[in-house]
This record gives sequence, C-alpha cells and structure tokens, in this order.
Amino acid sequence: MKILVLNAGSSSLKFKLFESQKLKLIASGLIERIGEEKSNAKVDIFNSSKAKRIEQKIKIKDHRQAIDLMSKILVDSKYLKSLSELSAIGHRVVHGGELFKEPVLIKENVINAIKELTPLAPLHNPVNLTGIELAIEQAPNIPQIAVFDTAFHQTIPVAAYLYALPYKLYEKNKIRRYGFHGSSHSFVAKQAARHLDKNLEDINIISLHLGAGASVAAIRAGKSIDTSMGMTPLEGLIMGTRSGDLDPAIVFYLNRELGLSTAEIDELLNKQSGLKGITGNNDMRAIIEMAQHGEQRSKIAIEMFTYRVKKYIASYMAALGHTDIIIFTGGIGENSALIRELSSKGLEELGITLDQDKNLNINNGITEIQSNNSKIKILVIPTNEELEIATQTLQIITK
Ligand code: ADP
Repeated sequence: MKILVLNAGSSSLKFKLFESQKLKLIASGLIERIGEEKSNAKVDIFNSSKAKRIEQKIKIKDHRQAIDLMSKILVDSKYLKSLSELSAIGHRVVHGGELFKEPVLIKENVINAIKELTPLAPLHNPVNLTGIELAIEQAPNIPQIAVFDTAFHQTIPVAAYLYALPYKLYEKNKIRRYGFHGSSHSFVAKQAARHLDKNLEDINIISLHLGAGASVAAIRAGKSIDTSMGMTPLEGLIMGTRSGDLDPAIVFYLNRELGLSTAEIDELLNKQSGLKGITGNNDMRAIIEMAQHGEQRSKIAIEMFTYRVKKYIASYMAALGHTDIIIFTGGIGENSALIRELSSKGLEELGITLDQDKNLNINNGITEIQSNNSKIKILVIPTNEELEIATQTLQIITK
C-alpha cells in the first residue's frame, strides 16, 4: 500500500509519499519557484536509519516538468518503479464549494465540477486541476482522490455561513462563507481527542491555525460550526500578506479616491497587506526579532495579530457555548511561545490560563500548556495536512 499526496500551488508542488495502512512517511518533497529562472527542488527520503536529502536547483518550467522530476526522484530512490504502482493519489483541492462535503474519487464529473468552481478560487482551483490532470496522465489506472479544504466546514449552520447581502447572491452566485484549512483543523481536532483519550463527539474545540495563512475554527462534537475565513481565504485573522477582516467600504475608497482597479485592490489586500503591510515583512519570526530590538511597527503588528486572535477566541466561545480545548497549530502557532502567550493573555476570566514554563517547553508531539487551574485545556499540536489527506484517501479506497 503506497499513497502519494499532491498539493499543487501556483508556483509550487508539495508531495508526500506514505506506505502501508499505518501511513508511514517515506518521502517528502517541495518544488518551489516553478516557472522562474531558478527553481528549487528539495526532497527528503526517509528510511529506517536516517533521512537522505536530494536538492536540485534547476529551471523547472511548469508543473508537468515538476511532476516528471518528482517521479524521477521517487523512482531513483527505488521506492517506486513508477507512479502506476501507487495504491492511490490524494490531491489537495482548495475549493469544493457546496458540492463537495467529503473527499471524492475523481471522475470526469468531478473534474468538471472543480472547473466550475473556479470563480470562487481563481488562483487555486485551476492549478489544483493541473496537478490532477498530470497525475492522471502518469498513472491513469489508479484511484485519484480529491480532498477539499472547504469540505470540513460544510457543517457550518446557515446563520454562520450567510453574509447579510441580497439573498439571491447566495442562491444564484453561491456567495457565502466556505472556510479553508479544513484538513488541518480536522487533523488537530482528532489528535486532541486522541491525546486526551476522549471521543471527539464529547468535546468542543477552538482550533487556531496560525501560519502564513491563518484561520480559526469552532468545532462542536467534531463538526465545524464556524470559521474565520470566508468565501475566500482573505477574511478573518491577520495573515502574512492578507489583511483579514476589514470594512468593505475601504475597497470603494481605494477605487474612488486612489484610482486603484479591482485587480490592484485584490493584489493589495491579498499580497501587500497583513504583517507585510504593517512591517514590510511577512515572516513572523523576523518580526518578533525586530520587535525585540525595539522596532515600533513590528511591536504594533504583533499586538494587532494577537488582539485579533483573542477576539476570535472569545467570539467562538460564545458560538460554542462551552469550550473544552484551544489548539495552537501552524508555523506560528506551533513555534512561537510569544504569540501563544499574547493570544491568551487577559482571557483568564474566560477560563483560559497559560502556564509560562510549559509554554516555553514544547516537545515535538502534543504539548499541554495550560496552568493547573485553567478550565480550558490549551494544546500545541503540530499539524499534518498531507497525513490527513492520505488518511482520507485511504478511507475512500478501502471503503
Ligand atoms: P504555510 O501557511 O505556508 O504552511 P507555515 O504554517 O509554515 O506557513 O507558517 C509560516 C509562518 O510561521 C511564518 O510567518 C514563519 O515566520 C512562522 N514561524 C515559523 N517558525 C517560527 C518561530 N519559531 N517563531 C515565530 N514564527 C515562526
């Protein structure tokens, strides 16, 4: 049993190869800057003793070349004779709209549906589809499964997913909240239940995925009931380069007073805002370092970032009614004690009290960082979206 997980981004291809029902990781790769002069391929091959890293800096002109390179590296490493030997390929697809509430076996109609959903995710769905089509070309006889970022949030009730716009915009154009990071929120929620030896059905969780993209999910009895990202991944928390929540009238102002086109405003809000907009840098690690050296804008950015996280925690406590667990995950959530501390500070009256020492001493696995008198458990859990996609792929092919 071998399952490959593919995540095709606009200029990148991430992949992981898993083996056996236990889904042991055998290879993990990232090909970046596809289409640029100097692309970068990094693949780690794990065997029982130690990992081997293969690195190549060559021009990779498109995703076809990237997939060819991936196959070649996997075949050269002798784990595979060809992609056709795989049991299945699981694909990350960003937008499944209202059509996909679960992962599906990819057939012609699924490809067409993903295409039709392109207006909702113009940057993501087309390149996800390219990945799917190239993988089918290389391995036409094995099952290919689509796992959607939005699917986990399809349980959100109507009052939380509708925007207060003319109702026909929902009916006709499907404008509503969808939410993203589904594989991550679902993975860490299950991990939390297992760690605490509880049934997922018996616990309520607020999951904070804080990475370059960031989102919060309110999870009741294993089901998402609200999330901070909206119709697109632009809404909600402050992110690396995305603004998150803002007054929509700012968009009219930018157009009317500054003469920016919709494409320019799109670029401004998605690529030039967030941490980058405030500090000039989208990397939280660098921002924290700058703040420690007294740089004012970095200090403000950290305050803004964590202030918004706190507002979401409190509002999702209201949405859930009762909260058992708060989870920190994603590059920032897993690695920054400072951001975890500031994001929980002042929430003691709500039953959230962090233990400073535990917060500073995180291990590789799951770490509990609440103090003994905290009503709510606070967990740091490394996310693993690819493993979640592999798990869901395995479920489909063994069903
Ligand atoms: P992506 O959403 O692209 O998967 P990640 O989850 O890897 O992104 O998160 C990337 C973010 O995590 C970056 O802002 C990076 O600076 C931040 N990060 C990684 N390590 C640390 C750290 N030790 N302290 C603070 N931030 C960190």
